[in-house]
Parts: sequence; C-alpha cells; structure tokens
Amino acid sequence: MKVFKFGGASVKDAEGVKNLAQVLTTTGDKDLVVVISAMGKMTNAFEQVVTNYFDTKSEVPSALNEIVHFHHTILKELFTSEKHPVFLKVNQLITELSQLLDKNKSKQHPFVYDQVVPYGELISTCIVSAYLLEIGIENTLLDARDCIITDTKYRDANIQWEETQQRISEVVKKKGITVTQGFIASENTHNFTTTLGREGSDYTAAIFGYCLNADTVTIWKDVPGVLNADPRYFNKTTLLHHISYKEAIELAFYGASVIHPKTLQPLQRKEIPLHVKSFYNPTAAGT
Ligand code: ASP
Ligand code: MG
Repeated sequence: MKVFKFGGASVKDAEGVKNLAQVLTTTGDKDLVVVISAMGKMTNAFEQVVTNYFDTKSEVPSALNEIVHFHHTILKELFTSEKHPVFLKVNQLITELSQLLDKNKSKQHPFVYDQVVPYGELISTCIVSAYLLEIGIENTLLDARDCIITDTKYRDANIQWEETQQRISEVVKKKGITVTQGFIASENTHNFTTTLGREGSDYTAAIFGYCLNADTVTIWKDVPGVLNADPRYFNKTTLLHHISYKEAIELAFYGASVIHPKTLQPLQRKEIPLHVKSFYNPTAAGT
C-alpha cells in the first residue's frame, strides 16, 4: 500500500480537485491513504478567524463568511446540484465551528487555534472524498483524529507513537482508498484537537507510511520534484532524481520549503522511499 499527500496548492480550486482525481486515475493505485491539506490559503484564513476572535470579535462572522464563500465556489463547480449532501455536510462543519467559538471559555491562544484551524482540513477532505465518490472513485473518509494521537502541546504536538500505531493498525483498511486530513491530530487526555505545526501534512503522510509499513510515500507538488535551488528565486534549476535521507533532512532543516523537517525520520527508520512528484505530470519520475 502507498501513501499520497496533496497540499493546499494542489486543491486550491475546483480544477485542482479534478486534477487530484486525475492523478489517482493515472497512477491507478488501488490501496492508498490519501492525506490532504486545507484548500489553497485556507489555513491562513482560519488563522485570521482566531486572530479576530481574540482581538476584534465583531469581525469573526465576516472572516467566516469569506471561508464559506471560498468553499461554496469550489463546491458549485464540482457538483451540479446544490442538493448534493456535501453542501449540507460543509455547512454543518461551519456551524459546528461557530458554536464552538460561541461556547469557548479558554483564553489560551494555542488551544483555541487548534480547535479552529483544523476545520480547513476537515472541510477539504469532506469535499474531495465526496467528489471522488461522485465520479466513481470509491473511498472511505477517515477522521485523522481517531488515529493520530499526540500530547497536549497545542500547535506543535508530539506524536504518541505506540497509541498512534495501535489505532492506525486497528482503524485503517489496508485495501481500497482512504481519504484523511493532514496536520490534525487528537490529544489523549480529553480528546481535544491538536495540530502538528504549519505544513504538518507531510509529517502526517510519513506517520501513516511508517505505521502501515507503506511501500512508498508520495508528496504531490507543483514542482517536478526536489530541485537544487528554489525556482521562485533562481531560473536555472536542476531536478535531483535521487537524494539520501540525510541530504533531504538537511535540505528541510535549512529551510527548503519542499518537505516538512519532521517528515524524513520515520521514513528513514523503516527505509520507506519518499517520492516528490508533480501533480501536473504524474507519470514523470520526480525525485
Ligand atoms: N494546512 C496546513 C498549513 O497550511 C498544513 C499543511 O498544509 O501541511 O500549514
Ligand atoms: Mg501546505
């Protein structure tokens, strides 16, 4: 079985979601865990909700409206009828979030952050899973919080490996396609939501890869693979076909935004290859 991770840039609009489906069709893998981030820049938008909640509460509704509008635009392009149950499901998630903010008593910013920002991933996976079903790609939507267990270090939670391993072995089906959220987890004392740090979805993919003894983990990106320089700053870059775990860890730690720094260690421990490939060109070898 394999693990695929699609980041925010890959699902930034309806075209992106359709392209994700195309990647699954082209690669043809049947036994997969598909880890997905919040759509486009939605994590920043949810962070704005948290900022407003603490600084200017009166602006929370307008920040939420922007989020609703963004997702509705994508939904309307993906589904022909607004009667499709996915519209209701997304609305329910937004209602749940508003109620959570109304009821909240905590003044702890990191705690509130982790209860709010994960809705980006919860909504994106709800939409992608429903879309895949709509076009005939069978899949099961899994709440990553049922599997990825952490301590209570909000916004930078540490994985409780034993419990996570046990839950993943119990819950994740080895056959078929499972769609789940990156970045989000659950702490094991009160089951509140936690997060693994910005860009943490790569790490989620590695955790699933490790616990499932995956054959490979693939991060699908808008670049052809790992390049020898950042294409945003250099116009002559070369694709690195193979790099060692050690080199990849160094790259990540020195700030190459291509891979989240914590991602490599679990994969290295089990010698699971990490592929970085272009979601525009899924048959190319990448890195
Ligand atoms: N959505 C989260 C972020 O933007 C996690 C991720 O994309 O990896 O940081
Ligand atoms: Mg991202």
